[in-house]
Amino acid sequence: MRAIPFLTRAKMTVNNDLLAEVADVLRSGPRLAVLTGSGISAESGIPTFRGKEGLWKEFRAEDLATPAAFERDPRLVWEWYDWRRGIIGTREPNPAHLVLARWEKRFPGFALITQNVDGLHRKAGSGAVLELHGNIWETRCTSEGTVAESPETPLPEIPPRCPACGALLRPNVVWFGEPLPAEILQKAYEASGACGVMIVVGTSALVQPAASLPLLAAGRGARIVEINPDATPLTAAADFSLRGKAGEILPAIDKLLVSGGAR
Ligand code: NAD
Repeated sequence: MRAIPFLTRAKMTVNNDLLAEVADVLRSGPRLAVLTGSGISAESGIPTFRGKEGLWKEFRAEDLATPAAFERDPRLVWEWYDWRRGIIGTREPNPAHLVLARWEKRFPGFALITQNVDGLHRKAGSGAVLELHGNIWETRCTSEGTVAESPETPLPEIPPRCPACGALLRPNVVWFGEPLPAEILQKAYEASGACGVMIVVGTSALVQPAASLPLLAAGRGARIVEINPDATPLTAAADFSLRGKAGEILPAIDKLLVSGGAR
């Protein structure tokens, strides 16, 4: 498909004037919601599913992150998660995560919604993160549904079992074909419907229902700021499309907010 840039209403590319304009919008004190995807963790060195470096042995994520795969071979699925946890465990939040953690205190009513399972927003200091797809550092008992923290890497036992009942544990993440946790999704809908500005960072805007959240926000009159090196299906609905890396653009906006940002 061919991109048709002149159909977009977004102000595009990144220059100081555009950053200052976004900072002005934020300085006017809107209720702010931020939606993040795997792109925000790219600069922390966490492979995306789709990139070449995201492949494990000969498997694709779509073949492993499913209830059917776990039922067929829980050991194989856990070996893959153990591999991913091993990588993620050595990675640190980057400046983009750190700015968002600060903004939680700066903007009253701030909401952070993420599709990421890596836990880097929490590690950066964000206290209230709506993790739509769960967290790779938690397990869930397949019998009792109990969720527990699981910080150890590599895992001492694969597949791990519930210490209380002996049933298999699974990663507390949402697999392909599974519904999202209802309460968290509801809160994400509420935050999206109530915000005056939504910043959408590092998501291809292809995975539903997360991709519908900015459209809900825009439909209620919120201004949409997209931060992504590439265009996405959301770009046409965005007011600002800042084409670049999250770890550079978010700190640049933050600097303007902190300094009062002369235009
Ligand atoms: P995606 O892989 O579909 O898209 C990533 C987007 O990030 C792309 O549009 C890309 O252009 C952009 N991007 C790349 N580098 C960037 C940077 N430095 N700054 C800003 N943007 C950048 O990711 P998605 O939309 O989040 O959907 C993938 C699914 O995979 C999600 O459900 C997510 O849970 C899961 N996933 C999570 C992780 C993680 O937790 N870190 C990693 C891989 C996959």
